[in-house]
Amino acid sequence: MELRRRPSKIQSRKPSQAPPKASDALPLPLYLTNAVFFTLFFSVAYYLLHRWRDKIRNSTPLHVVTFPEIAAIVSLIASFIYLLGFFGIDFVQSFIISPRASDDEEDDDLHVVVRDNACRPPPLVVPTLASEEDEEIIRSVVDGTIPSYSLESRLGDCKRGAAIRREALQRMTGRSIEGLPIEGFDYESILGQCCEMPVGYVQIPVGIAGPLLLDEFEYSVPMATTEGCLVASTNRGCKAIYMSGGATSVLLRDGMTRAPVVRFNSAKRASELKFFVEDPVNFDTLAVVFNRSSRFARLQGIQCAIAGKNVYMRFSCSTGDAMGMNMVSKGVQNALDYLQSDFPDMDIIGISGNFCSDKKPAAVNWIEGRGKSVVCEAVIKEEVVKKVLKTNVDALVELNMLKNLAGSAVAGALGGYNAHASNIVSAVFIATGQDPAQNIESSHCITMMEAVNNGKDLHISVTMPSIEVGTVGGGTQLASQSACLNLLGVKGANKESAGSNARLLATIVAGSVLAGELSLMSAIAAGQLVKSHMKYNRSSKDVTKVAS
Ligand code: ADP
Repeated sequence: MELRRRPSKIQSRKPSQAPPKASDALPLPLYLTNAVFFTLFFSVAYYLLHRWRDKIRNSTPLHVVTFPEIAAIVSLIASFIYLLGFFGIDFVQSFIISPRASDDEEDDDLHVVVRDNACRPPPLVVPTLASEEDEEIIRSVVDGTIPSYSLESRLGDCKRGAAIRREALQRMTGRSIEGLPIEGFDYESILGQCCEMPVGYVQIPVGIAGPLLLDEFEYSVPMATTEGCLVASTNRGCKAIYMSGGATSVLLRDGMTRAPVVRFNSAKRASELKFFVEDPVNFDTLAVVFNRSSRFARLQGIQCAIAGKNVYMRFSCSTGDAMGMNMVSKGVQNALDYLQSDFPDMDIIGISGNFCSDKKPAAVNWIEGRGKSVVCEAVIKEEVVKKVLKTNVDALVELNMLKNLAGSAVAGALGGYNAHASNIVSAVFIATGQDPAQNIESSHCITMMEAVNNGKDLHISVTMPSIEVGTVGGGTQLASQSACLNLLGVKGANKESAGSNARLLATIVAGSVLAGELSLMSAIAAGQLVKSHMKYNRSSKDVTKVAS
């Protein structure tokens, strides 16, 4: 990588970026150059004014000039041009710095000045260009004649498109993105599916917690996180569960939802639609129409809510191994087209009316569920609580009651009756290619703890009504995410029983949350939280973040 600075039109427009100045071209520190030119300007101006006054007094013709006067005039003009350039007058800069600035030697000279000047924006990092043709395209993207979004379709080469966009971005912003890698990623695999206008990819470390003994199978759980302690803590929870004989999970429900909003001229007409949809005979017909959207979509129910003249129909359907948002949306569109023939006065306002409810905290998901609803439990033996978790059953039960139940009630929580379910959900979601934004409802969880077996052992459970996961579609097919799914044995579509992989993944998420809850609650009960963070995460970061 070569360090160079390249001025551009857009760069000079950005207020946060100091444009290149005339002074940049001088091989002296800025303060020295400024001092020289300021002194020169005022002294020669003073000298010339004196000379002018003397000539008038002595009646000497003004055009008769001596050599010192010529030198003074030249110095005055030179310092004047420099000062104009210094104060950002563009036309002066254009004399001094070539707008193309593609000449290597010139760039290198500029770079020396930029490095000497701490006040300047950071120098650009410009990779060695592949070819003159690429350079031409980069310039066109920078000056706006080629839209950045069209690079992949124009070039027919996703990697090259990303490299050109990245280079253009650096020139336009004047900022380096050197630390954001571009190599080692399959840009074809995200085209039209996962990410538009790529310029690289972010690296997130993946740690492994486990084995998680769940329903008599062992799983090594991949967690993508930058939160120190999180994997170690979940791993400890897994160990406690393992030593106690494992956890058990039950999938209570499996249905993705989408709720369009439609409007009528009266609340009476809106109610008629509600009754129509809820009639079992009409529902059966609607289900046939809905299910045409995919061989995996199976309509389960439609829940209607009315707000005046508006109806919100919450369609719920199973979606095989897909998380199912696309699938359910297609089915809803089919159903709306069908309903329009019976209700021609129905105005379809939007395919999503937020009663779904996707990626927003909402009581409807907490109460009715969305995606997979799972309950997961384990009985942790007394000696394991003592030896592995370094606390005792009574302390855990009391803490759970006061923190996760009463404390969350005091906070007015919506689905947040847990210690840190979202920490585990997010980490597993990112590792396995789920939609991280769905962490909002997927992290809804109530953690319960109770002393059992005559108060000796601990019964712990997590109930999670809306875990939204899939093993096909979206980010799940990307190489890294797919490898993590493979590690769990849930990669892709389940050939024997459609939907089994996604359902199993949901139970693994719940089992991992169980482990995470057990460990963090124990750390808090034992007063270890701060200590363990100091050990595993020695930075000055706020350790209370994990104990949210
Ligand atoms: P989503 O509905 O979660 O947004 P996509 O639409 O991206 O997911 O991916 C689902 C696609 O995968 C559909 O086209 C579906 O036909 C296909 N598919 C293949 N096998 C399965 C399966 N076992 N379960 C669900 N979808 C599957």
